Amino acid sequence: MKKSSSVGSEIEITLPAQSSPEELERAIARKSGGSGPFRIIRQSLDARRKPDVRWNYRIAIGKPPAPLQPERVLPVTREHNPGRAVVVGSGPAGFFAADVLNRAGWEVTLLEQGPPVEERRRDIAAFETGGPLAPYSNYSFGEGGAGTFSDGKLTSRTKQISREREYVTARYVQCGAPTEIQWLAHPHIGSDNLYPLVIAGRKDLQARGVEIRFHTEVRDLIMKDGRCVGVQSVDDEFPADRTVLAPGHSAMPLLRTLAARGATLETKGFALGVRVEHPRELINTAQWGRSEIPGLKAAEYRLTAKTSTGRGVYSFCMCPGGAVIPAAWRPGLNMVNGVSNYRRDGAWSNAAVVAALHPEEIFPEARNPLDVLARLEELEACAVDLVGTHRVPATIPACLGGGEIPGTLPRSSHPFELVPSDYRLLYPQWLLQALSEGLSDFSRKLRGYETGLILGMETTTSAAVRVVREPSGEVASIPGVWIAGEGSGAAGGIMSSAVDGIHAALAAAASNAYRA
Ligand SMILES: Cc1cc2nc3c(=O)[nH]c(=O)nc-3n(C[C@H](O)[C@H](O)[C@H](O)COP(=O)(O)OP(=O)(O)OC[C@H]3O[C@@H](n4cnc5c(N)ncnc54)[C@H](O)[C@@H]3O)c2cc1C
Repeated sequence: MKKSSSVGSEIEITLPAQSSPEELERAIARKSGGSGPFRIIRQSLDARRKPDVRWNYRIAIGKPPAPLQPERVLPVTREHNPGRAVVVGSGPAGFFAADVLNRAGWEVTLLEQGPPVEERRRDIAAFETGGPLAPYSNYSFGEGGAGTFSDGKLTSRTKQISREREYVTARYVQCGAPTEIQWLAHPHIGSDNLYPLVIAGRKDLQARGVEIRFHTEVRDLIMKDGRCVGVQSVDDEFPADRTVLAPGHSAMPLLRTLAARGATLETKGFALGVRVEHPRELINTAQWGRSEIPGLKAAEYRLTAKTSTGRGVYSFCMCPGGAVIPAAWRPGLNMVNGVSNYRRDGAWSNAAVVAALHPEEIFPEARNPLDVLARLEELEACAVDLVGTHRVPATIPACLGGGEIPGTLPRSSHPFELVPSDYRLLYPQWLLQALSEGLSDFSRKLRGYETGLILGMETTTSAAVRVVREPSGEVASIPGVWIAGEGSGAAGGIMSSAVDGIHAALAAAASNAYRA
């Protein structure tokens, strides 16, 4: 066993990856000179000396596992009857905005255009077995938002949010997420755990008095004397003293409404690409030097490359032991994303491989940010024109840049039929060239990467447009309305969107600008 070091009342321990919890306890007792209580502060995997893969632990000695007290991590001042708040969208940003506003004493209504997650799961299953795509009930829309059926990775590169991050993980654990997400360096919940977690979160909000309305699409803001005083759905009005919008990545209609009401939208750098899938064992062997290690799930990777023209190409949203899924958010579109269950024990591992670009590069004729969004939707429709709705375009790395159509394709986790395709009919040649160069570089870094399967179009890794906000998150030019999460263009991912929702709610609750 490798030598371990001690730092004050904290110790650091390194153990072979396949070690049992009992072996960890024995190592801690040996190192600390006793068998008292301990708390894992951090656990990370070290595969630099493969096949000798190890867990590194930082352990606090003498402290029992911390009690779950999210409210103490993030104190919120509770006022007596401060007023009514409406939150639009039930993804991580909307959920945490509703949660915090409720704790601040607001009478909260949470509006979601899609159905409860039970109905959503049935609609997705029907679609994947040949049924129609339900417009508001799919992998992107419906209760829990886009990440409900996902790998549930909680990594985020956002800086200075340790308190909020701790709050989000503690709330998720309260709702049934695995406790280790509190200390793992790469925490993930898993699609199978997210489903009951979303139900538990809903019941918790409802028990605390939050009204949740499903099948309620917000179409407009209610404006009075130059400020937003609520929202309007297709057949109802929701007056509110504070409005928080958390509509997610693909909220084109609501962004159009905001623009029409005077919000400023601006374009930003984003990314486009494909999903790449390999057998799980191939990725394990490349990363660990062994196809399986007892006690470990499936190997992860994060790869980056710079092309000959200086463009960044990177892997994103890796789903080890997962599946590639059809992620269209409305009929007429066809793109992909990835999911995995908690055990990550599927036969394949996949990741997005995307190239960084600016909207002006791919849509040079776009007149304004709204036009960029319209053209992005047109792009997302290209694969439907090419292969239809219940099939997915596919190729192999060697054919991606050359426009060749591969004769045979590897097997896949994707539920639909794969159609060997010429990707020049989906993306411009310069983008394919960048992706090809990136994939070649990845093949040098990760043995066997070139044998992967390329699937679909990956268009939603980041937003191409952001809504200009005040520092508080309030929409510039529309007083009384805050926008949070991926739909604002200021967040991307479950954790950063959840934290953005918390910040918007705290700012909205604290704002004195509209007190009578
Ligand atoms: C398949 C998949 C896998 C993913 N995996 C991961 C992962 O492992 N880790 C990670 O960090 N991120 C992942 N992501 C991305 C992540 O899910 C999003 O970044 C995150 O959910 C954004 O949160 P949000 O609250 O801003 O918006 P969303 O989660 O998109 O929620 C927005 C909600 O608002 C609703 N809505 C939109 N417009 C209206 C309206 N007008 N009226 C009422 N309701 C409306 C939508 O129906 C939706 O439910 C994944 C995404 C997908 C699709």
